[in-house]
Amino acid sequence: MHRVKCYYCGQYFDADKDPFIKVNNKRYAHKTCAENPPQKKEDALYEYIKQLFHMDYVEPRIQKQIKEYIEEYGFTKDGILKALQWWYDVKKNPIGDLKNKTIGIVPYIYNQAQDFWFIIKLAQLANEDKDVKEYIIPQKEIEIASPQVENIKPKLFNLDDDEKNFYNKTILAKFDDEKEGFNI
Ligand SMILES: [Zn+2]
Repeated sequence: MHRVKCYYCGQYFDADKDPFIKVNNKRYAHKTCAENPPQKKEDALYEYIKQLFHMDYVEPRIQKQIKEYIEEYGFTKDGILKALQWWYDVKKNPIGDLKNKTIGIVPYIYNQAQDFWFIIKLAQLANEDKDVKEYIIPQKEIEIASPQVENIKPKLFNLDDDEKNFYNKTILAKFDDEKEGFNI
C-alpha cells in the first residue's frame, strides 16, 4: 500500500495498485487525470488563477475554495473571476506570499467587485452610440438607479484612482479593439 494524493483531482489512491505518474519529486497523480485533466482548458477562472499564482494547475485547495463559494455563498465562477480581476488587475493589490496561495479574499470583495463591473457594463452600453472621445468619467461619483425596483434609493459608487484609470482605459480600449469586449 502506497497511499498518495492525486495532484489533479485531490483524491487519495494507492500507487501500488492504480496507474500513476509523478508530476514532480513529491507529487503523484492518477495517470488518467494527468492525461485528461478534469479542468477544461476554456475555463476562464482556472486559467486566470493559474496565471495569477504561476501554477501549472489549480491546486485542490483553491478548487475547494471555489466549490465552497459557489455552493455556500451562491457565487458564480464568472463572479469569482470578476472579483479577482477587480482586486488584482484593477486595484492592483499584491499577490502576497506565493507559498500560501489562496483566493480567500473573494467573499470579502465579491459584492463590491460586482458593483464595479456593473458600472463598466453600464458605461459601455451608454457609450455604444456615442463618440467615445466625448466621454469623460464623472470626477466624484456615478449614480445608478436600480433598473428593476421602483422607489429604491439610487446607489452611489465612489471610484478610487485605480478604478478610474481602469474605467477610462477600458471604455477607450473597447473602441480601439472591438474584439476585446467585456462579458459580464
Ligand atoms: Zn486524480
